[in-house]
Amino acid sequence: MNLYVKYIINTLLYATCHLFVIVCCLPISAQTDCMLQIPFETNDNYTATYQEVRSFFHNAANCAQYVDYVTFGMSDAGKPLQMLIVDKSSKFEPLGPKDKRAIILINNGIHPGEPCGIEASMILVRDLIQKDVLKEALDDVVLLIVPVYNIGGMLNRNSHSRANQNGPESYGFRGNAKNLDLNRDFIKADSRNANGFHQLISRWDPDIFIDTHTSNGADYQYTMTLIANMQDRLSSSLRALVYDDMLPVIYENMKIGDYEMVPYVHVRSTPDEGIAAFNDLPRYSMGYGALHHIPSFTTEAHMFKPYRDRVASTLLFLKSMIMYTADNKKEIRAARVKSIEEYQNLAVVPIKWSLNFDQSSEIMFKGYQAKTEISRVTGKERLVYDRSAPYEKSIPYYNRYKTDHEVEVPKMYVLPQAYHKVAQRLRDNGVIMQRARRDSTASSKSYRITNVESRASAYEGHFLHSKVDVAMENTVYSISSGDYVIFTDQPKRRFIVEVLEPQAPDSYMAWNFFDGILMQKEYFSPYIFEDKAAKLLASDAKLRARFEEKKATDAEFANDSYAQLEFIYRSSAHYEQTHMLYPVGRIF
Ligand SMILES: [Zn+2]
Repeated sequence: MNLYVKYIINTLLYATCHLFVIVCCLPISAQTDCMLQIPFETNDNYTATYQEVRSFFHNAANCAQYVDYVTFGMSDAGKPLQMLIVDKSSKFEPLGPKDKRAIILINNGIHPGEPCGIEASMILVRDLIQKDVLKEALDDVVLLIVPVYNIGGMLNRNSHSRANQNGPESYGFRGNAKNLDLNRDFIKADSRNANGFHQLISRWDPDIFIDTHTSNGADYQYTMTLIANMQDRLSSSLRALVYDDMLPVIYENMKIGDYEMVPYVHVRSTPDEGIAAFNDLPRYSMGYGALHHIPSFTTEAHMFKPYRDRVASTLLFLKSMIMYTADNKKEIRAARVKSIEEYQNLAVVPIKWSLNFDQSSEIMFKGYQAKTEISRVTGKERLVYDRSAPYEKSIPYYNRYKTDHEVEVPKMYVLPQAYHKVAQRLRDNGVIMQRARRDSTASSKSYRITNVESRASAYEGHFLHSKVDVAMENTVYSISSGDYVIFTDQPKRRFIVEVLEPQAPDSYMAWNFFDGILMQKEYFSPYIFEDKAAKLLASDAKLRARFEEKKATDAEFANDSYAQLEFIYRSSAHYEQTHMLYPVGRIF
């Protein structure tokens, strides 16, 4: 039977039974010795606990020889990060060069208060094993399923922290064991979870990455919404694959399965004024996937819809993506190879984008009438979505971003060995680095940081720099034996550029890994420096001319004796050259 037809039958079967899930979705008796019970199927407003999830997937691995449950790292909570592998060859290893299958990675419970993917993955795995659902797809696809990524958050079970959400009755917490949001941690990797995830990605190199969530924000009719990689972030080969072929099929299948889907409802006020494509920065799962040329998706089931529908629609999406990948594995893998090549051939690459408000398309949208009423609490105006007034109308969809900044890619970067935390993250992400064998020098187009704007309060454990301005300086760069030499002509070129170029929004500069350079270490005492300053002015005619001109044209400067001495100090050999000098060498 054609895979697509079979898929439709399976999803229709599920669509008709999901309301009566207790009766018809219990494990069938083919393998009575292998009970894969899912608590959700006896209470559809319940999400499994950490212990229940762990024992379910452990049992699943014992139920089928082509399923294994492995550890890929450690969580901040001190419990191992685990992943289920469904691999028909039973090798449970990354694919060899001759293997033509594609790998799909499904990540759940990064926000454990949004657990619908956990239940959907349990049903998916149980059905794969016991009902032979999607059996043919396993000839073409290897599945990697992380049941729970944020284990610490899942262990912090409660019934209140998702104030806006309709069930389940209890669930985990968003912050992990260190109170970090792991869906902001994919570059800075402050958590051990992220370290493990980096190693997973570079070891397995998945072809598709799905991260499952529940929405916040507006109210509307759809149960499922989707964030795909922002199209302008993708290379032309991946953009064509994802936007011209994959997404139309997936959206159509979701509709056939009775869960019509819409792009994630990212709004400024209400959907009536239009929705915008999400800027999936590399700190988020999808943007991180894009740096590795992996088409990446975030499912966002709607917070107000019954939990059973959120689970069912997430499951339908997972099935749909598995079917699409099975049917198009060759095209997906080819597009990824092409994407890496494309990036390799670009001398100048974009690193920063912003929403293009001048360009929008129209999208049919099924919403609820938004209106304002007087609040009973505050006496002020409040927003209300009137569910008795559903509408379907065309609204603007701002789905294009424009490049704000691009950079010329050097032949190599040199990372001083002092920055070993950056080196560790590069290594974990599969970046090939060499250690310099001897001391040497090279011409570098280095950056002098001219201005930094930072968050006023801590954001995910950092005072993230929201804006970094630089001036290019040609320097004679000193390479010490042991420093990291990173050639950009390698498959991880994109990752390297977007973390080492300081103006990229999620660069290691932005995430404070190089903040030591931002503070001057030595200063002058004005009363002592006075005499030196006088001598410097007397002996340097050019300096004297610049000094006199500034005094003549800048009244504030002319009245500030300290500023005048500092001007001379900074123009002298006494001023430290390392202050504000971005320490990563850029050799062309
Ligand atoms: Zn989320």
